[in-house]
Amino acid sequence: MYDSHSGKRLAMFWNPIGDKVVRCNLCQHRCRIPEGRMGVCGVRGNIDGRLYTFVFEKAVAVHVDPIEKKPLFHVFPGSMAFSVATVGCNFRCQFCQNWDISQLNAFKKSSHEIKPSDFPGEYLPVNRIIELTKSYGCKSIAYTYTEPTIFYEYAFETAKLAHKNGILNLFVTNGYITPEALEHISPYLDAANVDLKGFNPQFYKKKIGARLDRLLESLKAYKKLGIWLEVTTLVVPGYDDDEKNFHKIAQFIRDELGVETPWHISRFFPNYKMNDVPPTDIRILRKARKIGLDEGLRYVYSGNVPGDEGENTYCYQCGKLLIRRHGFEVVENNMVNGKCPRCGAPIDGIGMDHLQTRHSNYWMV
Ligand code: SF4
Repeated sequence: MYDSHSGKRLAMFWNPIGDKVVRCNLCQHRCRIPEGRMGVCGVRGNIDGRLYTFVFEKAVAVHVDPIEKKPLFHVFPGSMAFSVATVGCNFRCQFCQNWDISQLNAFKKSSHEIKPSDFPGEYLPVNRIIELTKSYGCKSIAYTYTEPTIFYEYAFETAKLAHKNGILNLFVTNGYITPEALEHISPYLDAANVDLKGFNPQFYKKKIGARLDRLLESLKAYKKLGIWLEVTTLVVPGYDDDEKNFHKIAQFIRDELGVETPWHISRFFPNYKMNDVPPTDIRILRKARKIGLDEGLRYVYSGNVPGDEGENTYCYQCGKLLIRRHGFEVVENNMVNGKCPRCGAPIDGIGMDHLQTRHSNYWMV
């Protein structure tokens, strides 16, 4: 059933729908996959009427990162996250920052022709991830860089073992998972940073290849299942940078996810198929941050602008500076037992009484 060197393994979340055709129910695309074909993500294929993943225990990127890089600012600030990815993605973002590992041509092939070499990466078994996480002193494992939903089987097995070892699990995700797949992993999933790339259904359809309404439902499901949630919006000039858009996102977070949900507003840099678009004007990011705060969100951050005051955490009640950051580093932490030292307001998140202030970055692959 599983060949450890090829990464091939029988997939979870699918059902036969007749004539050797299967339906994959892992992500919201719910691909209908005829015999011999691959799904949209390019890493799941139908062989003889059964659905397989081809990236189980096949890691393409493995780093030890500050948790601030995910970004998850309200989960053990200053700690390190063991970070892992396979190739593949179920989105087609034209501005993808990791397109070299997320976008594959394998989905164009017949699943019978798939070879291990179609999926770059190295054999990294689940138990080895746990060993490495411990040896590098990481508090958590982040499933990140590409889309963790599409390497679900790998993440699920790792997450189960991680919890047995007292390690947290984090998804950095586009959020396009089905409710049933999310619920199944939720007992082991502690926190997630979910991208909300604007509030325009046409933008999602044309530039990303996905449906906004399904993503919004998924965000609500994360919240309902008790998974700590932070939201990131990459502001692409000319596409999702108008004020109305920022108001709509902030209102959705406030009304559906809660004022305690941190919102990260990130600066875009030209990339992949959007090399002709300029970087986001920092004034726009600041305006968006102000809109988020005015709409009542407790924590609104600027991303990709090292040194900006929008990287810091302030008390939502009295305005005191609680955590000063520079890029991915926590350089000052004034909280006392996870509370504001001036007014005593409890600061939302997991492990906010964690007091680590500095760290370095280890690159492994
Ligand atoms: S995980 Fe892949 S195969 Fe499954 S529905 Fe999503 S894109 Fe399709």
